[in-house]
Amino acid sequence: MECLKIGILEVQGAFLEHKNALVKARDNIKLPVQIEILEVRHPSHLNSCLDGMIIPGGESTAISLFLKRNNMVEPLRGWIQDKKHVTWGTCAGMIILAKQTENQKNGGQPTLGIMDTDVSRNFFGRQVNSFEAEVNLSEIFTNLCPGDKVCHGVFIRAPAVIQTLSPNVEVLASLTWKDTSEEVIVAVQQDNVMATAFHPELTEDVKWHQFFIERVIRNKALLHCSTK
Ligand code: GLN
Repeated sequence: MECLKIGILEVQGAFLEHKNALVKARDNIKLPVQIEILEVRHPSHLNSCLDGMIIPGGESTAISLFLKRNNMVEPLRGWIQDKKHVTWGTCAGMIILAKQTENQKNGGQPTLGIMDTDVSRNFFGRQVNSFEAEVNLSEIFTNLCPGDKVCHGVFIRAPAVIQTLSPNVEVLASLTWKDTSEEVIVAVQQDNVMATAFHPELTEDVKWHQFFIERVIRNKALLHCSTK
């Protein structure tokens, strides 16, 4: 049976929630795959044949600082850019992956600069802090994970993609923002990297984890084909 190795960057919280959701999502997938979930806290953890990685939410400035202090910025960037790997950033993870960020902390904040996105921190306002809303899923998402066209989104001081900087970025989900009735981009993918502004690990619905696992499986299968 195929075994997928998924790393979770373990700097702040949400490790267990992502882990539980991955296990539950694996059970929903009909394919015979096993999943091994590993903590990533050190550059050496990136060498353990990981197939995929989740960068959870938290505080993007704290995560950047952690990466810098632990000499992980370049190793992690290289790992993510390697086509053998699939990466998913949630909330602060979306900020860390962006090429451009708005509303940065004073003095600026470094990001990994991988996705061609312009991401605004705390887009929905600090005072709101946290809200829950229905998210509209794009066809790209429902083609891989058929089912509902919406999902429940938990937004905690969430960012949003205010601009895509190249046609390589595809929208996976948007939110009809109640203040302006505009469609705000809240999930994107570019090549093997995806990002959500909300926290799917905090709901019972594991379709985003399923989507991620499907992508990891497909990526591995494609690699097998291209090396044959
Ligand atoms: N607003 C936070 C930041 O700037 C992200 C919040 C989250 O990950 N829930 O990093």
